[in-house]
Parts: sequence; structure tokens; C-alpha cells
Amino acid sequence: MSECIFCRIAAGDLPARLLRDEPDLVAIADLHPQAPTHVLVLPRAHWTSLDAVPPQETPALGRLLAVCRDLARELELGDGYRVVVNTGPAGGQTVDHLHLHLLGGRPMAWPPG
Ligand code: 5GP
Ligand code: ZN
Repeated sequence: MSECIFCRIAAGDLPARLLRDEPDLVAIADLHPQAPTHVLVLPRAHWTSLDAVPPQETPALGRLLAVCRDLARELELGDGYRVVVNTGPAGGQTVDHLHLHLLGGRPMAWPPG
């Protein structure tokens, strides 16, 4: 069994609140939400970070982004939202499986911490 928690969630071996369950990706509610809406969109493929996505899989990145946009519409984040991809230790990444954070429901500060 994979030791990656996001692979295990995507496989249904660990529980999560699913907002999307598709052949190439899942979207789940973040366990520790940082905003009223905090969704993680993750590919089923185990790519450890944005940096690790093979060049031939680059179109998958557009798909992940488009799903964030579609979820933002469905979740009625019409005032605006933020999509974040923490990458690497200095980028604040703590789970080594690529994921996009969709955050909304409150004003976002800039610059981020
Ligand atoms: P990162 O810091 O890697 O950008 O984001 C990892 C995110 O995964 C964090 O926001 C954290 O709250 C979330 N997370 C960590 N473990 C779990 C889990 O088991 N289930 C869910 N739903 N989210 C998790
Ligand atoms: Zn994984």
C-alpha cells in the first residue's frame, strides 16, 4: 500500500470529504481549512510536486486549474478566490503529492506569508 496520504485518499483507503471523484483527479475538503472554503485538487498520479510533473503531462496542469475554476463557480466564490501550489520546503509544501489549494470565502492578504 502507498505511504502517500493523498494517494491513499484518492484510492479510497483513507476518508475525506470528496467534492470531485474523476478518473484523473479528486477534489477534497482540506482537513485544516485556512478559509471558509478550502479545497484541495489533486491528480491521481503521484507527482511529488509541481516540479516533478513530466513534460508530457503538462496538459494535466491546465485541467487541474480548470477544475479549481469550476469548483469556485459551484461554490459561489464570485467575489474572488485564490489558487495556491506550494512547491518544495521553502514553498511551504508539506505533503509530497502535487495539489492545488482553492481558498475563498474571505478577503485574501498580499503578500502571502
Ligand atoms: P501543503 O502544505 O503541502 O501545501 O498542503 C497540504 C495540505 O493538506 C494542508 O492544507 C493540510 O491541512 C492538508 N492535509 C494534510 N493531511 C490531510 C488529510 O489527511 N486529509 C485532508 N483532507 N487534508 C490533509
Ligand atoms: Zn501520492
